[in-house]
Amino acid sequence: MICEAQRQLHIRSLPEGVEGFVRVDGVHVYIERTACNLGGSRAWFLCPTCNRRCAILYPVKCRLCLRLHYASEHEGSLDRLLRKAIKHRAKHGQTSGGICVLFPSKPKRMRWHTYFRARKHAEAYETNIVTKFVSVFSS
Ligand SMILES: [Zn+2]
Repeated sequence: MICEAQRQLHIRSLPEGVEGFVRVDGVHVYIERTACNLGGSRAWFLCPTCNRRCAILYPVKCRLCLRLHYASEHEGSLDRLLRKAIKHRAKHGQTSGGICVLFPSKPKRMRWHTYFRARKHAEAYETNIVTKFVSVFSS
């Protein structure tokens, strides 16, 4: 699993306009550019092991070569719903309490329509969580 303490080299950490290759821990890592839809280009590392385009190296192989997974890939459906519900609440300034506290009040300068729409979405997730939770523990 990918953890934040793991050493990473992000393509954005390189100086603007780098071309060709860079040396990472004594290994030549090639940089490829792809065109963007609205103009310009985007740089990618080419993984020295599998030749796959990637934005982050750990530090000389890509995520797939090291068989690293994101934490969200190990979540069950209930955890996924809970994470989404908490994310909705965090957009409105809630920092703690999960879904057990009242939905946060409308942030200053947010339209009431936007607030109610977001609240409705969050409540739909929370209703799903309760329904799923009840079905898991009643069976
Ligand atoms: Zn790779």
